[in-house]
Amino acid sequence: MISIPRSSKSVKIDMDYDVTIIGAGVGGVFAAHELAKIQERRKGMKPLNILLIDKGKRVEERFCPLDLGESCSCAACAKYIGFGGLGKSEGKFNYTNDFGGGLERKVGSENAMALMDEVDAVLCEYGGAAAADYSTENPVLTERARQAGLAVLTTRTRHLGSALSTVVLEKLQRYLLSRIILSFETDVAAIQLMEGGGFKLELDGAEGRRMLTTRKLVFATGRSGADWMAAQCQALGIGQDSVRVDLGLRVEMRGNQLDAILGETFETKLQYVGEDYMATTYCMNPSGRVIRKHQDGMVMPDGQNFREREGEGSANLNFTLFVPRYFDSMEAADSFARGIISGINRGGERIVAQRLEDLKLGRATEQGIMQQNRVKPTLQVDPGQLADEVPELYTKALLDFLAALERLLGEPIDEDTMVYGIDGKFYAPSIETNEALETRVPGLYAAGDCSGVTHSLSQAAASGIHVARQLARQLAGELPEVTGE
Ligand SMILES: Cc1cc2nc3c(=O)[nH]c(=O)nc-3n(C[C@H](O)[C@H](O)[C@H](O)COP(=O)(O)OP(=O)(O)OC[C@H]3O[C@@H](n4cnc5c(N)ncnc54)[C@H](O)[C@@H]3O)c2cc1C
Repeated sequence: MISIPRSSKSVKIDMDYDVTIIGAGVGGVFAAHELAKIQERRKGMKPLNILLIDKGKRVEERFCPLDLGESCSCAACAKYIGFGGLGKSEGKFNYTNDFGGGLERKVGSENAMALMDEVDAVLCEYGGAAAADYSTENPVLTERARQAGLAVLTTRTRHLGSALSTVVLEKLQRYLLSRIILSFETDVAAIQLMEGGGFKLELDGAEGRRMLTTRKLVFATGRSGADWMAAQCQALGIGQDSVRVDLGLRVEMRGNQLDAILGETFETKLQYVGEDYMATTYCMNPSGRVIRKHQDGMVMPDGQNFREREGEGSANLNFTLFVPRYFDSMEAADSFARGIISGINRGGERIVAQRLEDLKLGRATEQGIMQQNRVKPTLQVDPGQLADEVPELYTKALLDFLAALERLLGEPIDEDTMVYGIDGKFYAPSIETNEALETRVPGLYAAGDCSGVTHSLSQAAASGIHVARQLARQLAGELPEVTGE
């Protein structure tokens, strides 16, 4: 039993909490942080009671037993859930409206950028300034790319890397522990709408089952809480929209292949629009390696950069070319992606790869040929024939994109370039919210990726700040002892 409809009997509104946030990824953390800061600025006022709940652990306890050489029986990986959510992994904050979600459609493009600048200021306040920011803006390249049929998506980036991300999150967690209540390893078993407004929650955690009431509620459960969200939305009558899934081939090329366009920049993001698809590069790693990514029982080729670990890189550069597709439901989206990825994995960790020349000629890559390849694959894979294992859309998109890239570079892409099948990126369904990110249930907001509006750390965090401000405004109107900002 997950959700209960509106309570039939009248309940006296005697709130335990003014605001409860479910999910302590960056969406929830930045919402909680902003609310705590608003309180600080309102010295002398009655403090708001704020609760932040996560089903995962505190940041310092977030380890995968496999990484410690132990066995793992976790239902969900501590590397992905808990304080900071997915923000604990690479910590690459891209401050842009060009990609990473559609927050600008809700709050306006200038406001979205201003909110992202505030996210950056918070990161820097908690130690993030140790990683210098950089910009991928390059008007000359943008024009050359346009002539070649490509768009350059630009951003200002602060790439914390996993070590600094952890430091920043630990400091944020320390601050929040001194200002609000945090409840870890806690599930929300049931949500009940109360007569006259507010919510009654049933929590299930280390302290057993407990009930609480809250005046306002924020869902910030990310993609990992998508099934839970779907059940909540259905029970609360909140509509869910289409579900996006990006699949794409990962490319590993000579390290100097993109020198003509990378120049001073660490990476670039290019987009090609075909007749019936749009293809965008993702996670470009100069000197990086291709690694296996495990997600929901699927194994995919992912990229890892070695900026943090000098001497462990490679002579190659890798990136994925993602092509989005949209489905009517989570089940349809999952079944499509799982069908392709599990087919490649064959019940194990199998990843298939093919030389670019072989892909173009429609012939399988042989093991012997791969050993002589000038581009040495950084991941152990099964050489094979991608056309037999992935839908044509993805191979066609890659070949079209590489043809445009050759026009931009003014040189051919090395035929020994390796192509790996297949990487995936999964999204939460979009839900109905207004520009304040409030759902049709008054007082219930959605921040971060669970809203379907954001798909990146910076936009998820920015949406958290935005929601916190709307909440503070609403509460200022409802609670006589709390005045405006
Ligand atoms: C492997 C990987 C790497 C990525 N790297 C980057 C990157 O470098 N840069 C970038 O911009 N984007 C990156 N992304 C995307 C980015 O991480 C997300 O857009 C962002 O983390 C979303 O933040 P969030 O707070 O909405 O959700 P999340 O970070 O997913 O956090 C959600 C939190 O909610 C909790 N939760 C879920 N359900 C419940 C429930 N029912 N009860 C209680 N708690 C619950 C979870 O435990 C989790 O801690 C990456 C994504 C993946 C999968």
